[in-house]
Amino acid sequence: MNTKIVKLTEDDIQNKEQIRAAGEIIRNGGLVAFPTETVYGLGADAWNPQASRRIYEAKGRPSDNPLIVHIAKMDDLGRVAKRVPEGAKKLAARFWPGPLTMILEKQESVPLETTGGLQTVAVRMPGHPAALALIEAGGGFVAAPSANASGRPSPTRAEHVAQDLAGRIDMIVDGGAVGIGIESTIVDFTEEIPMILRPGYITAEQVRDVIGEVRVDPGLSAESEGLRPKAPGMKYRHYAPKAELILVEGAQQKVEKAIARMAEEAEDAGKRVGIIATDESCGKYPCGIVKSIGTRTDEATIARHLYGVLREFDEQEVDLIYSESFRTPGIGQAIMNRMLKAAGHRVAEV
Ligand code: AMP
Ligand code: MG
Repeated sequence: MNTKIVKLTEDDIQNKEQIRAAGEIIRNGGLVAFPTETVYGLGADAWNPQASRRIYEAKGRPSDNPLIVHIAKMDDLGRVAKRVPEGAKKLAARFWPGPLTMILEKQESVPLETTGGLQTVAVRMPGHPAALALIEAGGGFVAAPSANASGRPSPTRAEHVAQDLAGRIDMIVDGGAVGIGIESTIVDFTEEIPMILRPGYITAEQVRDVIGEVRVDPGLSAESEGLRPKAPGMKYRHYAPKAELILVEGAQQKVEKAIARMAEEAEDAGKRVGIIATDESCGKYPCGIVKSIGTRTDEATIARHLYGVLREFDEQEVDLIYSESFRTPGIGQAIMNRMLKAAGHRVAEV
């Protein structure tokens, strides 16, 4: 299959010609990758079971891992969800369009192919003009997971989508680099007390401010052995670079010394070593391939570059990656959730 790549400027979104063509592909059962504010999504008509099945095929995604239904209008929430609890209405009013996904009881009409066999459905209204225009053009309901091959880091640029899926999907809408860089926060409203199944840019504290009591899925932390995360996708070793990734935690100066020493030892042993540092610490490492992931004065930059840096190290075929840790309140929780998974929970305390 020849994958058409279409560059999209703000003007193009206005005049809608390319968006209309992309929407037509979706309405005809095809697959279109498109930018959202979180990561690139791989979209198909949410009402078309065959189209949903094609998403799983193109990504090599396990069939029990449900898709997120993307909508562009508030009123459409009721077409997908059987009941919308008060708290869900409040969260939608506060954070949509934006990086928030809600799990609700599904309407009968939502195909099980789209929900990975579940009676619940994930819904989100993304905050990206191209995404909203495409959803409307595609019929209003676009099922989309992240547009990476299963197991690879999520794509934050159109080039990442092409690396993984060129030849396997109909079109890639290239809207440049995304703004947030990690996937949406998922809040499950099918529990008695709403529960965060995946941390994201919108924090648990922000959700609590709007709806009061919220729990965080105990299956998310590595310490809770034996518990499974409730979101099927969170159990897979996602986000993984090809190299072994080791997170180094402790006081900053000790971390820098330890990484510098371990990198030197590994290089002496003939290994290619990558180091994930920040603008502040980049100059502190005498050996290894050193990359800055962003600045500690603005953690959003770290989230934005995380997956891109992991992909760059893949391309440079390093054997080992040592990374500083970004364990802080706020978005640091979402960043660390992704990094711990990418590292297979290998952490060196210094
Ligand atoms: P992705 O869009 O690639 O980030 O994948 C969607 C995420 O939403 C995966 O982690 C899914 O497991 C999760 N998800 C989607 N639908 C549901 C659902 N009905 N219940 C729980 N988790 C869900
Ligand atoms: Mg994904």
